[in-house]
Amino acid sequence: MRVDAIRTCLLAWYREAGRTLPWRADRDAYRILVSEMMLVQTTVAAVIPYYERFLRRFPDARSLADADESEVLKMWEGLGYYRRARQLHAAARQVVSAHGGDIPDDPEAVRALPGVGPYIAGAVLSFAFDRPEPIVEANSQRVLARLLALEEDPTSTAGRRRVWSAAARLVPPQQAGDFNQSLMDLGATICTPRQPSCLLCPVAASCEARRRGLQDVIPRSTPRPAPTEVREACAVITQGDRYLVVQRGRGGLWEQFWEFPTIHREGPDPAGRSFDGPVDLPEGVRRLTGVTASIGPVAATVRFGVTRYRVTLEIARGERRAGTPQPGPGLIDTRWETLDGLGALTFGSAGRRILERLRREPGWPGPSGALVPRS
Ligand code: SF4
Repeated sequence: MRVDAIRTCLLAWYREAGRTLPWRADRDAYRILVSEMMLVQTTVAAVIPYYERFLRRFPDARSLADADESEVLKMWEGLGYYRRARQLHAAARQVVSAHGGDIPDDPEAVRALPGVGPYIAGAVLSFAFDRPEPIVEANSQRVLARLLALEEDPTSTAGRRRVWSAAARLVPPQQAGDFNQSLMDLGATICTPRQPSCLLCPVAASCEARRRGLQDVIPRSTPRPAPTEVREACAVITQGDRYLVVQRGRGGLWEQFWEFPTIHREGPDPAGRSFDGPVDLPEGVRRLTGVTASIGPVAATVRFGVTRYRVTLEIARGERRAGTPQPGPGLIDTRWETLDGLGALTFGSAGRRILERLRREPGWPGPSGALVPRS
């Protein structure tokens, strides 16, 4: 690999064409950590409004460390990958307790923060402190795979090793942050997944894939298994103008999130909603909440993906007949809430879509409710 030529060309290109992103306005390590935690599996465009809102509420590690987890999750609601929010919260608490509130310029201490793997450690250390630490994320991974004309899938064990080794060889002793960001920006704007703009590329002369005409087939990929289908059912149960909701306990998918009472129906049970044997929705609601309700037929469905599962959630409308809410198996709270009150709780993606629909049509889903559009 022509290390010096690639460094020089990329840094010159980055000065002219690098992207302007809110977390690049300064080299604040906390802001960089927040942005990188948010960017995991999420696009820059989706992250920017969350990042700005989050920073207004939690401008530094101390304010984040002092917050309740429920508020942190609420600020993260809609971004997905909620484990990241919890890890960021824990990292802020560690920064305050062990480092006085400032992320230290110390690779070992940064790597020891919760949720900080090799990529995020490299990003914080190089962007904030200009330490010559390599990074590999989706964009730079593609660029490096093409520069090397990598035959392996870069996400395989062998491929990953070669890409990280190339990133480590390329990162310069000075301007490491700019260099790492130039690799990412090149992947985001020029060396795109399909039809890379090789004619505009500052490192075209050093690119092995281009030399061999392989830029359209590299990076190689291994077909991913199809998502596993899961079927669940939930009931939107009312008493006057209030809705019955439950909060899930610690551990498992949707930890501490609120939802309408939901049972597992078919397929694997990633959220641990099964009972000892099959139960219908009214019986499931009674066991989960202590509330007896008359529940209509399935009136709507919503489909969504979570980890490797594709969930179809069947939704029915119900009315309370008897009983006072008591949290059942796997739950830590259950209560009646008005629509306004529901807005202050943190729901997963399906719950948020149900809430949005209820705000528009409080009687939804009646027995003949329309399908919720698929995401
Ligand atoms: S020459 Fe083309 S394939 Fe190679 S790094 Fe540049 S844009 Fe990517």
